[in-house]
Amino acid sequence: MINEPSDSTRLRNSLSDSSASEFGDIPGPLSSALINNQRARESNAVSYPRRLPIAVETASGSYITDPDGRKYIDCLTGAGVLSLGHCHPYLVAAAKRQLDIFTHGLDFPSPTRERFRDAQLAMLPEDIRESMVVHFCGPTGSDGVEAAIKLSKLYTGGTDIISFQGAYHGGTNGSLSVTGLRAVKSRLTGLMPGVHFFPYSNCSDCPVGLSRDTCSVNCAEVLVHALRDPNSGLGRPAAVILELVQGEGGVNVADPVFVSRIREITRELDIPLIVDEVQTGCGRTGSWYAFEQYGIHPDIIVASKALSGIGSPVALLFLNKKLNVWEAGSHIGTFRGNEIAFAAGIAAIEVIRRENILENVRSVGQHLKDALQELAATYPIVADVRGMGLMLGLEIQDPYTKRRSKDLARLLQEQALREGLIVEVGGRDDAVVRLLPALNIDAEIADAISRKLSRSVAVVQRSVEATRS
Ligand code: PMP
Repeated sequence: MINEPSDSTRLRNSLSDSSASEFGDIPGPLSSALINNQRARESNAVSYPRRLPIAVETASGSYITDPDGRKYIDCLTGAGVLSLGHCHPYLVAAAKRQLDIFTHGLDFPSPTRERFRDAQLAMLPEDIRESMVVHFCGPTGSDGVEAAIKLSKLYTGGTDIISFQGAYHGGTNGSLSVTGLRAVKSRLTGLMPGVHFFPYSNCSDCPVGLSRDTCSVNCAEVLVHALRDPNSGLGRPAAVILELVQGEGGVNVADPVFVSRIREITRELDIPLIVDEVQTGCGRTGSWYAFEQYGIHPDIIVASKALSGIGSPVALLFLNKKLNVWEAGSHIGTFRGNEIAFAAGIAAIEVIRRENILENVRSVGQHLKDALQELAATYPIVADVRGMGLMLGLEIQDPYTKRRSKDLARLLQEQALREGLIVEVGGRDDAVVRLLPALNIDAEIADAISRKLSRSVAVVQRSVEATRS
């Protein structure tokens, strides 16, 4: 095990000895000044620049340039928002045109809103398209989740919500209540009551203690049984909320049998199934929505992050018409009419269709995953490679104890930055290095990503060995 602080400090020192940066010290002087000013004038809640100590001057496509002139390949893409890379010219041009004609529309109809809404509906699988209506929410994924929970409670008259271990659904009171992150929640009181967390099919760390050989998807049976058992202690659930790939939870891909069991039981008991596609949506996993790959029909779909493709915020629900029990004004919010986001979102769908981006996500995603799997086969610090499409993660372990290692994941993130690659860490114990590159990367950029990552993994592996010998 890596014991803080001594092992980790020794590792960090050995890392800086053995790893000449492509750029010299990070942050550079101009980034440093901006970071320091930010620390002095913004709250302690600032997070990304603590782990990725750079500032951003400009960004284009898959690249970010810092004020010191250093260029990085961006595998964070604004937390999965910039689906076609930074400042895609076609999307930016559409947003600029909209800026001149109408920018903020509450929920008044407008030609741009109509085109956006209908383009979004047209991206749904044909067999559910006609049965769904769209609900525009406040502009964050969290607000979409809040709306989905409220709506399910109104529809069922139920009070309780079922979520899954490892889930992330947002930072507002209700969405945080259905999130698994104990570290963030433990110091808060007054979160939404009646939330129950059930096992997720997190096969790399089975929640019901089985191995892959003996698995019969008992994780799903725990929920199925509890819903049927009159003595389970559960209130009448208003909804089950599910991510098909848990992003923040560590790139855990749901097992197809698990998902179909959840769909069967929720349908049988008329419990709305909410799929949270905030991160998996808009092509990230290789289909427009991840649920399509599971052959299920959700009752409510929450979408947000990449809807506009340029980070102009927008969130919405698709809900089955039978759930449309809102009354006028039941879930309102000032920012439900971001016309700039709508204009860019229409353009994003045009590009995605025209350039066959979903096929690109599947093929380049597989290409990148194969390369990452080679890393796992070569370097013992890489315990697992997981993901779908271009939502990929490497679980990092201490090669001696085989335990998840936050320290090594952090070192890998730091080293990758020195190589000119921006990656995120997350998951349980923050031990998963996460990749969310732009969906239009080609094989050449994918190879550059895997080369930089491979060099970084090699450096961290060598450093661990050096500190143990
Ligand atoms: N749901 C999921 C699956 C997410 O990944 C996130 C954001 N990471 C959210 C909801 C919350 O979205 P936002 O940060 O826009 O509120």
